[in-house]
Amino acid sequence: MALSDLAPVERNEEGIAAALGILKQRFAERFQTGEAIRGQHAHTTTYIPTQAPDGVVFPESTAEVQEVVRVCALHRVPVIAFGVGSSLEGHVNAPGGGISLDTSRMNRILAVNAEDLDCTVEPGVTREELNHHLRDTGLFFPIDPGANATLGGMAATRASGTNAVRYGTMRESVLSLTAVMADGEAITTGGRARKSAAGYDLTRLLVGSEGTLGIITALTLKLQGIPQAISGGVCPFPTLEAASRAVIATIQMGIPVARIELVNALQMRAMKTYSKLDFPESPCLFVEFHGSDASVAEQAETFGMIAEEEGGGPFLWTAVAEERAKLWKARHDAYWASLTLRPGAKGLSTDVCVPISRLAECVAETEADIAEMGLIAPIVGHAGDGNFHTLALMNAEDPAEIALVEKFVARLNRRAIAMGGTCTGEHGVGQGKAAFLREEMGHGVDVMRTIKQALDPLNIMNPGKVLPAE
Ligand SMILES: Cc1cc2nc3c(=O)[nH]c(=O)nc-3n(C[C@H](O)[C@H](O)[C@H](O)COP(=O)(O)OP(=O)(O)OC[C@H]3O[C@@H](n4cnc5c(N)ncnc54)[C@H](O)[C@@H]3O)c2cc1C
Repeated sequence: MALSDLAPVERNEEGIAAALGILKQRFAERFQTGEAIRGQHAHTTTYIPTQAPDGVVFPESTAEVQEVVRVCALHRVPVIAFGVGSSLEGHVNAPGGGISLDTSRMNRILAVNAEDLDCTVEPGVTREELNHHLRDTGLFFPIDPGANATLGGMAATRASGTNAVRYGTMRESVLSLTAVMADGEAITTGGRARKSAAGYDLTRLLVGSEGTLGIITALTLKLQGIPQAISGGVCPFPTLEAASRAVIATIQMGIPVARIELVNALQMRAMKTYSKLDFPESPCLFVEFHGSDASVAEQAETFGMIAEEEGGGPFLWTAVAEERAKLWKARHDAYWASLTLRPGAKGLSTDVCVPISRLAECVAETEADIAEMGLIAPIVGHAGDGNFHTLALMNAEDPAEIALVEKFVARLNRRAIAMGGTCTGEHGVGQGKAAFLREEMGHGVDVMRTIKQALDPLNIMNPGKVLPAE
């Protein structure tokens, strides 16, 4: 991948100047153009170069989002929705400049319908804020990308995380949403019903659209009951392949595991130091079970037997909340732990996902590739979904290193696609994966382009993302 593979976005200097003037007058201190704030609102998480917007606006309602979009449409200026900027593929970059629309002031929880297990929130609410608000209801929102991302950003990237193997992804969790489209009109895609056959599924069109079709201003989400009992633990394995085979067997046997995370020996080394874990420096599975006291104990026992058959163990598990919390905090900090393996390096996080039966093969071939290419790239992943990450560490100032990592990533993405999988299980396309979309989707890319042109004919909604230059 190179940024030159992306559809170019020309700067419209005159339009940008006009929009800046109007938005400054209308939003006063809620419209900022300082260099630092513009930099913070461009992509900063990986090696992809920062492309800052020209201004950042902080709307507080759907009506204000409509105003901003109408100004941008009138002057043909890009508008890039922004949650907390934790996306990993250059999603919030502004290649043609324009306006970053920051949703942090749209952070109200509008309704919690405990009896229906759903809630309605504004897009700037983060997943941790929602779970904090729900703490006395016996309910929780299960989707947990490592970062404390906004629910708007999570819907826009169709995010998931460690719990997806049991509770699904944002695709399954968003019942309906309100979005401001490129012409400034607001639409609501449905109600609170658990299912609907009312026409085209606009909810799922917007979920995963990465701000390229509309700006989400409210979401109705499914909630889950907090399980009566939770147990979890860590199990070491002699090889990463053996651990992967244990994951496959666990899923194929129908054990309703809530989380099953694969960690290789290098990642374990980084986590042991960073999070002060006392486990062997070998490939491991981090596992969690939800249910009744009896069922979690039974699940843990069955998993322990599967692990033994693959030469793994001992499987040490606990139902003590504090001990589990320490393990999952370490798992969530894996990204930051990996960066310590090469201080000063930038990381490129991959997120291929393959059918579960191909997981061990895909992981083994990828591990061999890392060794052959001499990369430092720990492996960690939501293996129960067939989804795993490598974080390839590189000197982002060295073109030769970037080229090597990009070669590795291209091989990995193509391997996953060839196995019937995808180049992105959860991070999305942004700028970084656009070059692989045609290989994965074929003529589907043309249909996506037709949808984009129909809904955003002026190409103002997060231009230069998702769709490749062709
Ligand atoms: C350490 C770390 C671990 C991570 N682990 C995971 C993981 O396990 N699983 C996973 O799925 N992701 C993971 N991610 C990626 C990231 O957290 C997700 O992509 C997240 O969903 C982005 O949310 P955000 O609020 O940061 O959105 P942003 O980064 O601000 O925006 C992401 C995209 O959504 C668009 N967008 C934002 N808000 C809206 C809106 N209201 N309407 C329309 N479009 C909008 C933006 O324009 C952009 O294209 C991880 C990231 C980090 C840094």
